[in-house]
Amino acid sequence: MQASPATTVTAPAPASSPVPSQSHKTTKRSAKDYIFGKLIGDGCYSTVFLAKDIHTGKEYAIKVCEKHHIIRKKKREYIKREKDALNMLFNVPHGFVKLYCTFQDEERLYFVLSYAKNGELLSYINKVGSFELNVAKHYAAELLWALEKMHAQRIIHRDLKPENILLDENMHLCIADFGTAKILNSKEISSSPKNNENDNSQNERSRKISFVGTPQYVSPELLHDCVDTRASDLWALGCIIYQMISGLPPFRAATEFLIFQKILKMDYEFPEGFPADAKDLVEKLLVLDHSKRIGADDKGETYYSIRNHPFFEGVDWDKLWEQTPPKIS
Ligand code: ATP
Repeated sequence: MQASPATTVTAPAPASSPVPSQSHKTTKRSAKDYIFGKLIGDGCYSTVFLAKDIHTGKEYAIKVCEKHHIIRKKKREYIKREKDALNMLFNVPHGFVKLYCTFQDEERLYFVLSYAKNGELLSYINKVGSFELNVAKHYAAELLWALEKMHAQRIIHRDLKPENILLDENMHLCIADFGTAKILNSKEISSSPKNNENDNSQNERSRKISFVGTPQYVSPELLHDCVDTRASDLWALGCIIYQMISGLPPFRAATEFLIFQKILKMDYEFPEGFPADAKDLVEKLLVLDHSKRIGADDKGETYYSIRNHPFFEGVDWDKLWEQTPPKIS
C-alpha cells in the first residue's frame, strides 16, 4: 500500500443513478447492490472497501475511485489498463484477483474484485522475518505459474512486489494492482507466446516509456533502456524470492536515486546462510541484460528453464493450487 492515500473516500452511499456495468459477467450492477463494510486500504488513486452482495451474501473487495481525482491526476490510462488486464485474466482459475464487474455513478468508479481475505504477502514476510525454504519455494512456484499465465496473455505486470501479491482465504496467492501493467499488442510481440518467443529483441519492441513500478523491484531495462519485456517480471520474481528468504529486498538504500544506482551496478549481497539453490536461481534472474535472464529464452507458455531449476525440486506443478500451502511461521 502506498504511504499517502490520494484522497479521502468515505464508504459510498447507494448510487442514485447507476450506469449499467460494462462487464459481461454480471448485469446492471450499482452501489445499491452491495453493503459497504470496513475500509481495507487505500492506494494512490483509490480506496478499497470490503462489501457484501445483498443478493448472494458473498463478500467482495470494491475499489472505489473518485472521478475528479482520476482526471486531476491524469490516471485514466491507469484505470483502463487495470480493467483491461483483469478482464483478460478473468478465466485464469488461480493466481489473480478477479474483476467481477465495474460500474460508476456521477462521482465514482467502482471495481468489484474478489476479496483476498488474508491480505498482502508483505505483511507475512514482515511478521515472521523470513520464510522457511519450503514456504518460499511454494509461493515462488505459485508466482511463477501466475506469471506464465499472465505472459501468455501478453500482459507484463511491471510492478510486482510483495504488497501487490495478496493471499486468499486458502492462503493461495493472487496478483493484484494492474494499473501499471503493459498489454503488448500483436506488433509488439510478433508471435504468440504459445509459439516462438525466444528473441526478446525482436518480439518486444524497445521504445521510450516513463519509469513505472516501485524502486526496489524495478528492473534495469525499465530504468535504463525503457524496454517492455516479460523478463522485467522475472527480475521482480528474483527480488521477491530473495526477500521471502532473507526478509528484505536485495536493493536497499536511503533514496530512490541510490536504489537505482545499486540496481544498475548490481550492487547487492546475499546474507550468510542463504540456501545455495535459491542463490543460484536469484543470480540467474537478477541479470542486467534482460535477454540473458533465465526464462527469457523459453518458448511457449511454460517457463521450463525456471521450473526445472534445482530450487523448485519437488514442486508438484499440477497440484500447486489444490494443496494447502505450507504454513507460514
Ligand atoms: P497503488 O500502487 O495503485 O496505489 P495500492 O495497492 O496501494 O496501489 P489499491 O490497489 O487501491 O492500492 O489497494 C489498496 C489496499 O487494498 C492495499 O492494501 C491492497 O492490499 C488492498 N486490496 C486491494 N485489492 C484487494 C483485494 N481484492 N482483496 C483484498 N485487499 C485488497
